[in-house]
Amino acid sequence: MERKKAIVLLSGGLDSAVAMWLAKSQGYEVYALSFSYGQRHSIELEKAKTLVESAKISGHRIVDINMGQWGGSSLTDMSMNVEEGDIHKKEIPQTYVPARNLVFLSVAASMGEAIEAYDIFIGVSEVDYSGYVDCRQSFIDSMESTINMGTVAAVEEGKKFKIHAPFVYKTKVDEIIMGMDLGVDFANTWSCYKGEGTPCGVCDSCKLRAEAFRKAGYSDPAI
Ligand SMILES: [Zn+2]
Repeated sequence: MERKKAIVLLSGGLDSAVAMWLAKSQGYEVYALSFSYGQRHSIELEKAKTLVESAKISGHRIVDINMGQWGGSSLTDMSMNVEEGDIHKKEIPQTYVPARNLVFLSVAASMGEAIEAYDIFIGVSEVDYSGYVDCRQSFIDSMESTINMGTVAAVEEGKKFKIHAPFVYKTKVDEIIMGMDLGVDFANTWSCYKGEGTPCGVCDSCKLRAEAFRKAGYSDPAI
């Protein structure tokens, strides 16, 4: 029997890596989709390529969509600094990239319709999501409905898209424990918002990652 295809949004970070290994473990023929979106550094895309090789999946596309042209985030606007993280702060951090997951999932739907991959995996979590509204289940549900209304495959051929957000109610600790079982190549995942050779250790993302590995009871293989 032909295997079902899935697209995994792969940033090169920890969450998307676990999502990719999970999709593979569920028997999907996996295609990774990454974006060169104007992020501060290209390390995570290099990591994404390495992860694709170590997961031995079917294909990888890197789409160029320069959202840095209009800025609005310290991840894409070089005139802004990445602030030191306070992972317990409630306000939306400057690292929020305007409508990023809305754009990424739309592109995934386009690729999915073209290659007949109707399952899309995204590694978002609304538990430790830094207040990013596009990481919540309500958003995922809404995007899924939109994609199923805006594609010929779904409307006329009955090929319904499903957006899988397997970690939406999980913590990073849960993800790391699951990822260790799945054999995720954590050593080649990149979480730091800065891209300076070694993780900075002080940004939001570095702090969340360090805390999660500690709570999961593993040392971080990337450090
Ligand atoms: Zn960092």
